[in-house]
Amino acid sequence: MNPKLELFSQGEEVVTGQTVDTNAAWLAQACVNLGFMISRQTAVGDKLEDLVTLLNEIAGRSDCCICTGGLGPTSDDLTAQAVAQAFSLPLEFDPVAFEQIEQFFLKRKRAMPEVNRKQAYLPKGAQRIDNEWGTAPGFTLRYNDCWFVFLPGVPSEMRQLFDSFVRSHLGKQFALKPKLLVSLKTVGIGESDIQTAVASIKIPETVQLGFRAGVDHVETKLLFPYDYDPALMTELINDFAGNIGDFVFGIDRPGHASGDLVNVVDKLMQGQQQKAVFIETLSQGLLSAKCIDCDWLIESSYYAEIRQLAEDFDLTVNDKADMGLLAAAIAEKIKHRKALDLVLIQLHQSDRSTIRDKNIAVEINTALLTPHGLWQVKHTISGPAQRKQNQSAVLALDTLRRYLQLHH
Ligand code: ATP
Ligand code: MG
Repeated sequence: MNPKLELFSQGEEVVTGQTVDTNAAWLAQACVNLGFMISRQTAVGDKLEDLVTLLNEIAGRSDCCICTGGLGPTSDDLTAQAVAQAFSLPLEFDPVAFEQIEQFFLKRKRAMPEVNRKQAYLPKGAQRIDNEWGTAPGFTLRYNDCWFVFLPGVPSEMRQLFDSFVRSHLGKQFALKPKLLVSLKTVGIGESDIQTAVASIKIPETVQLGFRAGVDHVETKLLFPYDYDPALMTELINDFAGNIGDFVFGIDRPGHASGDLVNVVDKLMQGQQQKAVFIETLSQGLLSAKCIDCDWLIESSYYAEIRQLAEDFDLTVNDKADMGLLAAAIAEKIKHRKALDLVLIQLHQSDRSTIRDKNIAVEINTALLTPHGLWQVKHTISGPAQRKQNQSAVLALDTLRRYLQLHH
């Protein structure tokens, strides 16, 4: 049996819904991946009796508990006090914690408010978790048979402390047998078509198959038992990848994350030392925005009107213009002007009311001029304007990914 872990989030604002409890969601996912069974998530307001009661209940029923929030300096931050009362442990002044808090303010050239002294008091016997990212140190302690971890509520600090300390300590405290998750990430194919493509593959009973459709990509997930034969695992993954085909842009395996589509394209572009120019229409700048961290994107422009685009490139265009020929003509002009490898162009002939109408699909031509010739792809995108915008950006990027992977 996997050890039982509970999460609890402290704070009136979480209970009343003013703050969405992203801490619990993040921690739950991280701990499931480590091999815990998450038995319960609770949110508690700033009431000492409620906290004391809950701590005692958890100590009696769980193997591990991670609590976030309530470590701050103000009167509504009650976690340490609640722990002291629940487990009859006096609060003790920790001089090292105090010095760290003083240093935090000193580095920022601010005087330490007297109330922050409170954060240096920890329950007797607790192990401090140093917090370089904020004022409140976290702490851990064992009570009954439960290992408690207390982390600050600020999400970035909570994650830093978890990654720098808690994760490795959980590994030492518990014999964890995490299931092994493999995820095949695809663009341009829907869940039902993936299901059809993999239907002929025989999946062993111990392996769970699942799908998750996100905004940008779809994940086909295979969950393997802890001790699954690696060779058989590779065989099954290869069968899936083979059947789904080149829609797969990345495969996440235990200990290896392939990244999202932008990361994959970024790596390929850097590896091949290429540069690119984008011309966007339907995606309205979103394609370039997705590539905000990519140095290989040397220029991008957005055109709301196809006529304007044609004018800028001294071309004529009418309602019956062939988008493929137009894309090719523009790509050639840019290539000569800029002397670079890759020009990606998106063209469509829909007016704005068509784009806004969720019941009308838009046909989009994506063209990629490469040293190996011109690639042209047509997609039909339906749904509300924002979906059309995002899908056209993702599919354009995926055209680039397909080309780069083919000429790897
Ligand atoms: P601080 O020193 O900032 O007071 P703390 O440990 O006392 O840290 P809280 O006061 O409970 O933490 O929360 C600080 C901020 O962190 C909140 O204003 C909120 O924006 C965010 N936060 C707290 N709990 C959560 C949560 N469960 N999920 C997401 N954000 C949270
Ligand atoms: Mg606080």
